[in-house]
Order: sequence, then structure tokens, then C-alpha cells
Amino acid sequence: MREVPDFPQPGVLFRDINPVLADPAALRVLVDALAATADPVPDVVLALEARGFLLGAAVAYSLGLGVVPVRKAGKLPEVAHRVDYALEYGTATFELPAGVLRPGQRVLVVDDVLATGGTVEAACELVERAGCSVSGVSVVFEIGALGGRERLVGRKVSALLGV
Ligand code: 5GP
Repeated sequence: MREVPDFPQPGVLFRDINPVLADPAALRVLVDALAATADPVPDVVLALEARGFLLGAAVAYSLGLGVVPVRKAGKLPEVAHRVDYALEYGTATFELPAGVLRPGQRVLVVDDVLATGGTVEAACELVERAGCSVSGVSVVFEIGALGGRERLVGRKVSALLGV
């Protein structure tokens, strides 16, 4: 993993996981380890735009489950639910596609990095608005100093690596 200072804005130290994703052995280890955090096994995986798509789809495949993408605003033809949220740098809107999550499903939320927790919190809100429950949150890397885990108190948060 590379550390990139002052991206995407001054003062932010960005952890770039692209070199890890590009390495076949590392990708396999990551996906297997993320899949192993899914205990109990959920009904479906929710993958967060954009790097969460790469990991979430692989984890779903590994577990024999389907994957549902949560998208930034304006990309989906039909939206079930929409949530605005604050990021470490800026604000954003997440949208859940219509007609894919079924009420009562247990959902594993997958993303690359947990920082302030705003992104995952928004995703969890979408899951619950759809009448589903969050079985867990699994990320590759947690930036502990930004307090994401505290923000997600009461949820099962699994991070493979962290600072
Ligand atoms: P949060 O909402 O927890 O503050 O930020 C997490 C979201 O922003 C994740 O979707 C993640 O992809 C992105 N993000 C925030 N900081 C970093 C970082 O240092 N590296 C990477 N790869 N993503 C980050």
C-alpha cells in the first residue's frame, strides 16, 4: 500500500490500495480474509463505490452470494433510497438501487478504507431503510485516529489492517 500525502486535498494522507489490488497473491489473501470476517455468513454483500465494488464483488463470489452496489448520486436509473453524508474531505450522496435488496436480508457492507465512518454509516442507513439488517462491516484498512469505529458503535466492524 502506498501513502500519498496531500491527496485529494492538503492535509489528507491518502492510503492507495491499488498496488495491493494489482498483486495476484495479495488480492487473493485480502479477499479470502475479508470473506472470513463474514461470520455468520450474510444473505448478500453491499459494495460501496468505487473501490468497494472490486472487493465486495470478489467477496460475494467467494461466499457464493450476490452483490449489490451502492452508488454515488446520479448513476442509477431507479433509486430505492438516498442518503447524504459528510466525508473526511467534502460531502457526497449514496443511492441504493431499486428492486435488489429484499426486506429481512442480512447484509455485509464491504469497502476498502474506514476513515471517519461517514461512508459506511450512510451505507448502513440505506440497508436499514430497505428493511434489511447489517450483519457486519468489513474493510481492508482502518484509520483509527479518524474515529470511524466509534461512530459505528454497536455494529460488527472488521478491519484487516489499520493504523
Ligand atoms: P470515511 O467516510 O470513513 O471518512 O471515508 C471512507 C471512504 O472514503 C471510503 O469509501 C474510502 O474509499 C475513501 N477513503 C477515505 N480515505 C481514504 C484513504 O486514505 N484511502 C483510500 N483508498 N480511500 C479512502
